Amino acid sequence: MAEVDTLRRFVFERYPFRGQLVHLGPAWAAMMEHHDYPPQVRDTLGEAVAATALLASTLKFQGLLALQLRGEGPMHLMLVECTEGLAMRAVARFREVPDTRDLRELSGYGTLTVTVENEGASNRYQGIVPLAGGSMSECLREYFESSEQLPTRLWLRADGTSASGLLLQRLPVSARPTGVTESGRGGVAEDEIEDAWRRVQLVADTVTADELAQLDDRDLLRRLFAEDDVRMFQSVPTYFRCRCSRARVGNMLRALGREEVDSVLAEFGQVEVRCEFCSRAYRFDAVDAAALFVPGGDAHGGGVH
Ligand SMILES: [Zn+2]
Repeated sequence: MAEVDTLRRFVFERYPFRGQLVHLGPAWAAMMEHHDYPPQVRDTLGEAVAATALLASTLKFQGLLALQLRGEGPMHLMLVECTEGLAMRAVARFREVPDTRDLRELSGYGTLTVTVENEGASNRYQGIVPLAGGSMSECLREYFESSEQLPTRLWLRADGTSASGLLLQRLPVSARPTGVTESGRGGVAEDEIEDAWRRVQLVADTVTADELAQLDDRDLLRRLFAEDDVRMFQSVPTYFRCRCSRARVGNMLRALGREEVDSVLAEFGQVEVRCEFCSRAYRFDAVDAAALFVPGGDAHGGGVH
């Protein structure tokens, strides 16, 4: 049985390659819970969720990593967010039920953007990923080649119950993944590393969706890389957590402006904002709304959650 809601790193002792495996079960179910996604949209979003967790664990950041797809196609928006602690949320918007799984057609040849925001720092990194291929894994391969300059491959799959992924990355020879001993790769020729990199990718290409979904990490790595000395690290949990709050919704209403908020109040007696990620409803009555527009007013005050 595959692990659930975990991410695990592993390294090849002989080569400068590292990898990660991610499996989302209940966390993925929680992300889908309030949405009625057609299977094509659901599975694409699930792959993006697995990919974002893998991406987050290859980057050093303290804050938020966001993967966003925008276009004019049937699935015109997809957003996945992940913290450095692998707390995730995700949403997709679709106009019609698509009859394709090709990412380019699904999104209407849109753009995929990776954003990293570091907490308390002004540096915000953004990379635009060309939709070079029909799948999330092909597009992210391009992303890594162009932005990280590290050859990286991803294998992803998702359905209505789980989302899983495998990542392999080739590091510069001088870099050593944590814990790899000096003797491990002493004297390995560049040619041998090159051949091994080609081989591990070919082997990983044989992984089936069922194997990715069902095998536990140890069995999967044994099945794929039996001839390599692969060391697994302790797995870490991944989970669903929404970052929405009454204060954030209050800020959004302030940005919308008093006039707009008053007109909704006049018509409905209250303003209700439902979080798109978790479906939680935030309600503001006339008193709450007035407090939003008092200078120094408090968005936390009063109201029914
Ligand atoms: Zn929420």
